[in-house]
Amino acid sequence: MGIIYGPVPSRRLGMSLGIDPIPRLICTFDCVYCQLGKKRYKVRGPEDVTEPFPTPDEIASEVKSALEKHDKIDYITFSGSGEPTLNPRLGEAVERIRQFTQIPIALITNSSLLTRPEVFDAAASCDLVLPTFDAGDQNTFVRINRPALGFEIGEIAEAVAKLARVVPIWLEVMLLRSEKFGSNVTEEAITGIIEGIRMIRPHEVNLNTCVRPPEEPVDQISGEELDEIRTQMEDSLPEIPIMIVPRRTKSQSKLRREEEISAEILSILAVRPCTTTDLTDSLGVNPAEVGKYLARLADADKIMRRVHKGRLYYAISKD
Ligand code: SF4
Repeated sequence: MGIIYGPVPSRRLGMSLGIDPIPRLICTFDCVYCQLGKKRYKVRGPEDVTEPFPTPDEIASEVKSALEKHDKIDYITFSGSGEPTLNPRLGEAVERIRQFTQIPIALITNSSLLTRPEVFDAAASCDLVLPTFDAGDQNTFVRINRPALGFEIGEIAEAVAKLARVVPIWLEVMLLRSEKFGSNVTEEAITGIIEGIRMIRPHEVNLNTCVRPPEEPVDQISGEELDEIRTQMEDSLPEIPIMIVPRRTKSQSKLRREEEISAEILSILAVRPCTTTDLTDSLGVNPAEVGKYLARLADADKIMRRVHKGRLYYAISKD
């Protein structure tokens, strides 16, 4: 997979041009709901990574080429196949991109490295940061996010709170239950999350649940439960907008050539499994046409079908 993927329809950011600034599937966490599969490696920081990271010049050059091909991009988003703040030159990459576009830059991060000054400064230089906050107590944090050794949720929350004073923060809370790993929707866990949000004071909170198939046995919570938790949070935190992440957004992107569409499908699926509807929205191509390309890619063993909660998803074939 390359440095750039998409544009993809983000349920939070509209049409998002994704940047994957790390050399392979590496992350400081191993969340039970992660969609990136078991090929990812857990590290404590960039010092544990031996491969070279994409440089700011390489990232900027690929973003520039992608912007020449696609219009109607709402955000340029650092995210991708792991934790983007592992790239030690993230701040420089943001600076380089700003030299040729006014499109806002977002950072999706698991928050773990924001305690490091250089990562904090890189995050503060973005237009919007979407940090993960799935637990307000260390026990739930360890069960759900399964961090590398040495991470403390209290210290991370303090760093996110500091960041919220200098850049807009949309806090991302993934709510789930699992027989194997437990839940972060018990009364105690939700109270911990609410207290964390009160301390962080984000500009917005986005509640989410796993709508795409993770590798681990994890269940989404129902729409009714999401509504109840939102009400509880709104009552406790009346000054903070609490949103439930919408299921999907519309795309205006128009990609027409077959090879280009197939390549785009592969690059989107390399990041996460998608339904035909997700891909239709992303590519701006009608469902019948997307279905035709999906069938050809499946015939060529480049992608595979997976059914999760009664919905058909497509994913990249495993090696
Ligand atoms: S932080 Fe994101 S990439 Fe890392 S393990 Fe969790 S869900 Fe996967």
